[in-house]
Amino acid sequence: MWCVWTIIFVVATQTLVLRGQDAEKKTVILGGVFSDHPSRSTSSGDDPAPDNEALLTDEQAFMFAVDFINFEMQSNSFFNFQGLVKTPEYHTKGPFQAMLTTCSLISEHAVAIFGPKEHEDIDIVQSICDHKDIAHVITRWMYKPPYQRSIINFYPHSEYLTSAYFSVLTLWEWKSFTLFYEDNESLLRLGDLLNLAKNSGIVVSVKQLSEEENDVYRASLKQGVRSGERNFVIDCKIEILEEVLRQAQQVGMMTSHYNYFITNLDMQTIDLEPFQYSEANITGIRIFDPEAPLVRIMNMTIVSTVNPNFDVHQMKTETALIIDAVNVVAKVIDSKLSFSEVESTNVSCNSLKTSSHGYSISNHVKTSKNLGMTGVIEFDGDGYRSNFNLDVVEVREDGIVKIGTWNSSKGLITSEHVVENVYSDPDGLRNKSFIVITCLTDPYCMLKESSVQLFGNDRFEGFAIDLIHELAVMEGFNYTFLIRDDKTNGAKNETTQKWSGMIGDVIEGTADLAITDLTINAEREEAVDFTSPFMNLGISILAKKPGNAPPSFFSFADPFALDTWTMMALAYCCVFVSFFILSRLCQDEWTNPYPCIEEPEFLINQFTFRNSAWFAVGSLLQQGTEIAPIAIATRMLSGMWWFFVLIMVSTYTANLAAFLATENPIHLFTDVHSLVENMDKHKIRLGAKLEGATETFFKGKDDPTYQAIAQYMATHKDDMVRENKYGVEMAEGEGNYAFFMESISIEYETQRHCGLQQYGKLLDDKGYGIAMRKNSTYRKKLSTAILKLQASGELDNLKRKWWEEKRGGGVCSLVGESNEADSLGLQNVQGVFYVTIFGTILAAFLVVIEMLVATLRISKKAKISFKEALRMEMTAFLNFNSNVKPAIQEGSKSGSKSSRGSKCSRRSKSSNNNMTRPYGFIPTITKEELRD
Ligand code: GLU
Repeated sequence: MWCVWTIIFVVATQTLVLRGQDAEKKTVILGGVFSDHPSRSTSSGDDPAPDNEALLTDEQAFMFAVDFINFEMQSNSFFNFQGLVKTPEYHTKGPFQAMLTTCSLISEHAVAIFGPKEHEDIDIVQSICDHKDIAHVITRWMYKPPYQRSIINFYPHSEYLTSAYFSVLTLWEWKSFTLFYEDNESLLRLGDLLNLAKNSGIVVSVKQLSEEENDVYRASLKQGVRSGERNFVIDCKIEILEEVLRQAQQVGMMTSHYNYFITNLDMQTIDLEPFQYSEANITGIRIFDPEAPLVRIMNMTIVSTVNPNFDVHQMKTETALIIDAVNVVAKVIDSKLSFSEVESTNVSCNSLKTSSHGYSISNHVKTSKNLGMTGVIEFDGDGYRSNFNLDVVEVREDGIVKIGTWNSSKGLITSEHVVENVYSDPDGLRNKSFIVITCLTDPYCMLKESSVQLFGNDRFEGFAIDLIHELAVMEGFNYTFLIRDDKTNGAKNETTQKWSGMIGDVIEGTADLAITDLTINAEREEAVDFTSPFMNLGISILAKKPGNAPPSFFSFADPFALDTWTMMALAYCCVFVSFFILSRLCQDEWTNPYPCIEEPEFLINQFTFRNSAWFAVGSLLQQGTEIAPIAIATRMLSGMWWFFVLIMVSTYTANLAAFLATENPIHLFTDVHSLVENMDKHKIRLGAKLEGATETFFKGKDDPTYQAIAQYMATHKDDMVRENKYGVEMAEGEGNYAFFMESISIEYETQRHCGLQQYGKLLDDKGYGIAMRKNSTYRKKLSTAILKLQASGELDNLKRKWWEEKRGGGVCSLVGESNEADSLGLQNVQGVFYVTIFGTILAAFLVVIEMLVATLRISKKAKISFKEALRMEMTAFLNFNSNVKPAIQEGSKSGSKSSRGSKCSRRSKSSNNNMTRPYGFIPTITKEELRD
């Protein structure tokens, strides 16, 4: 909540002056019964404080808080809160006047009454509020409120305070002490402590700080010393505390022998310098730390909107409580009450009518949990403020030092080394509080996913959050994260010379440290200080992975290069010609065609030219033929040929699988130079994060490529993005878009967006660091701590955690590791289909030619017309029922046996049942036929 306040701090400073009502919103009146003097201390009741320009009056604090909550809720609330403050004239009419003031506020439809602070008036106001069912909010110490129905007291409850006081006394192991109290109220306040101490065996004496005429408090103090006591508890109004301590010093009670415990929560607001060197042990408690980031932020807002002289170091607890109270009540009304519930009813002190929402407001406030200037705001079952933190502080030579924290549930937690280190290390960060500005950039800072509402730093997680935590643990500092909404890291405006973004925030003091993907560069280094880099990187290009070229038509031929195919074809030709020639030379290849005739008239050779070619093809395609070499030479040749074929086919098969599965990416560009060269050709757009280090990098460079990029970026603002994530979306989207990004971010994105990849090498070499104001004393400490984290491997662990493990990390590596092979598409093997189809068509074409030539021959032989021969051939062809064709005889017109057809008829008769061939038939084979 407070972080949000802070983010809008700058805007709020201008907007708070606009108190106009939004016509569409319901106005809710918050009434204040305040006197017109600045806030007074807890224990005070009546005396007006002296005018102090550094303070806010109660009314100012109240009105500021109302305006601030209006601004904070402006866009998402149905309500517009209006502060209405009335000031009773205490000194003329007392409680009666307070009653009139309250009635007047109620008749003006106030839904809650804040104040008054004067003890005697609270009862009457409370009585009216309870009667009329109006929420009554008070911010001062009270032992127990008179009526508990509608009252809400934001001041820490007495019982819890007593417990805190006692914890401190126990810490110091006091066996006895003297209580200096101011008046009856302070005695009442410490009554429980006295009882507790007594029951624990601590010897207690009690003395009132009486103002005797000349001696003022000295007399009482001296009495305390004379009794030999060294330990004192002082409970008095803040206005007299300084004087009491000063007089204690005067009577020699400010030495190392004396210990003081101051119960007033505002001890820090007085000037303690005179006692810093006294060596007396002065301990106190406070509910808010003026150096705490949230309080500093409120300080800045008040200074710029309400009071330029305001100093939060002097702000009283009650003033902070007024601001917190308005904030909590307004938020409860906004979140828990409906429009109709706060509909104004005409309640007045003169009628019996009561409001319907007062009780619910106080009930909701008592069950809510909020964060404010005074820390966690929570109430116990009885409606008393509980579960708050108190700082235990000590006055030391270098001012007020926090030595521990008291919490109503955990008790007192001190850390001894805190105390030691304060002196030993002047530049130490221990116990310092920093505002750390960051922005919601993955994976540096992200909102935690949680089913319960989270507060403060707990809302965030990420690399930067973990890193700051590690540094805080090492160096002992506290921190509060502040989120920069616009995610601008920072660039210098050349005209105004002002820095924007987080760098600007650090320079202006809105934050102490800035951490995100904040690049260290020379320009920034002049304006702020950086720690040693916690990450190293460079600029590169993020773009879609290249698309794949469609598989080539003859992809089945890819396993061999063209020259291999050519040589194979040549080898094939040589081999079959060799078969033809060698077989003619080999005697063994000349064989008897009719083995039953012992002395044949002639011999035949199976390796005719055609058969040689067919045999070589059969071997090449590993199908074999009926032909088998007989002679040693031809067997040798075929053995060698088969060996050649074995190796070639195995190589082809092995390569084919790889080639078919291989994708051929089409790269539009490969690096920054080819990107710029191909921008027009492929319509590639490019961009980077606006006002980021990457955009700055290209400006003013001599390299023409970089100049072209800078020029493009300056003239194509549509392609520039406010956040890296939009650049990633554009790179993933339609069209060709190249996003210049830092390599470490590219690494993060490519782990999660598997369609993207990095192109080219890094254009530069730089790092991310934590920025802080120039000449910060804590730079060295933080740098050393970062180097230690680097050396111990902790930074690597953090990187692995946020890059590879959390929030979808490693998704793309898993995709890459998948063992499932992709099935080959038709595209990959289409060439084989086409070759088969082409072969079939060629065969059909050849058959037609062959048939025409054969028909022509037959027509000549049979002395019939070509047409007649063709008709007879076609008739036989179309007679699909029969596998027999009549042979055409010389001079015959119809089908009968012919000598030409003898070869065919031999073949056909073997399968013909109708025309049985006599066994022992010896065909007549002429030499011409064999030559064929
Ligand atoms: N790391 C950059 C910066 O610090 C933001 C991202 C970028 O410009 O690529 O400005």
